[in-house]
Amino acid sequence: MRHPHIQVPNPEPDESLHSLLIASFRLSGHTSFRDFTQLIFGRPSDGRGWSWRYKSIGPYLDPCRKTGWALLQGTLLLPYLMPFMSPEAAHVGGHLLDGDFRIHREALRSNWHVFNVRPLRYCPICVKSNVHRLGRSLWLRSHQLGDVNVCWRHAVRLITVRQEFTFPLLPHEFEDQRVEYSFNKPDLWLAQQARELLTASYSPSLPQHRSEIYQARAIRLGYITSGRIDSWAIASHLGQRLDRAFLSRVCGGATRNCLTSFVHRVISGQGVGIRPNHHLLCIEALFGAQRPFFQQLRLLGMGQEPPRDLQSRLSSGNDGSGLVHREIFLHGLQANGRDVMLHLEERYPFTHSWILKHALPWSRRKIAELVPPSPDRKSILRAAARDRQSEEAAVRERQRRAMSAIGGQPTQTDVPANSSKSAEHVFHGMSKLLPRASWVSPATRRSNG
Ligand SMILES: [Zn+2]
Repeated sequence: MRHPHIQVPNPEPDESLHSLLIASFRLSGHTSFRDFTQLIFGRPSDGRGWSWRYKSIGPYLDPCRKTGWALLQGTLLLPYLMPFMSPEAAHVGGHLLDGDFRIHREALRSNWHVFNVRPLRYCPICVKSNVHRLGRSLWLRSHQLGDVNVCWRHAVRLITVRQEFTFPLLPHEFEDQRVEYSFNKPDLWLAQQARELLTASYSPSLPQHRSEIYQARAIRLGYITSGRIDSWAIASHLGQRLDRAFLSRVCGGATRNCLTSFVHRVISGQGVGIRPNHHLLCIEALFGAQRPFFQQLRLLGMGQEPPRDLQSRLSSGNDGSGLVHREIFLHGLQANGRDVMLHLEERYPFTHSWILKHALPWSRRKIAELVPPSPDRKSILRAAARDRQSEEAAVRERQRRAMSAIGGQPTQTDVPANSSKSAEHVFHGMSKLLPRASWVSPATRRSNG
């Protein structure tokens, strides 16, 4: 049911439902936030947490059910959690969103309890720009994700505050607007990865499928000892890569034992406290990027033949199954050209070393293909001038022969009056049509080689 005296503005990109409710409460001119939300949802809620009827706000956003739901979906943290929920749990969640059922706590606790937290975070620079643009600030979804403490866009430390349920404020109304830049790479990495996960809309997946893909990949990368996954080696690579403070904060400890059991829990899919950002760490360690992991997961979820590296458990890696590495590598090639190796060394040390070990000839070939050696302008002009000269020489030779044969004046038809000019025209016209690399005449090739 729609109440005529409730106005809900369209959500801004990345605006959370909590933020939207506050804006709507103020716009509608109600006096009690509690009563206002009760009118919409049937019971008081500040737009965070699960056990209430999210979808009741959809018709206010757009009377068309589908559009309203799509707009609402863009304000939830659900897409961040969904990829690591089982389809069954996600289904329960979906019903709950319809207001049909109460939540099955056991099914969702492991994913949800983390996000039902009260403190909220904001970036002072985002606040300032939104106030300037919209006249109000926003609580952004991407700032509320687990363990994220930096703005992914501005690399500024997020300010954490507690919100009053009865008098909720917008970020610009808090006193603290200190801008403090963060130079911690792992923090920024997590902020960007978490945001990518939030916006990518991956489907739910089965824990056993995730585990299968992790394990196959770990084996492929040589993280195996006595026939078991070597969580210790993966953990020590994570330890080398990320600083202790970050690991303590995200993994609950930075000692080697602690990290080993963390990696084991995530990869084996055992344990209830695994959060999306824990998966992000293991995905980074084993895949270097989210997309290849989720692609494999999707294939497995659709019941398609598992990729070859899942079947050949202990293969050496020379069987063409390094497609995922290659994809990362190709992407690097496009972005960074010939410096790809240097770049990958920094960004994806595991995958890079794998490529060097298993696919070096392939990568060399790709680099060679990427930038065809293109002659510079000078050598093109020189080649053209040489062609012109040889053509003119041939014409003169024909003239000479013709004159000696008939013993008189050559006929004008043999020699175009503007022969050198037309050669130039051909050159300029052709250079537009032909790829630069092929603009080397056979004569030049011969003379060069
Ligand atoms: Zn920001």
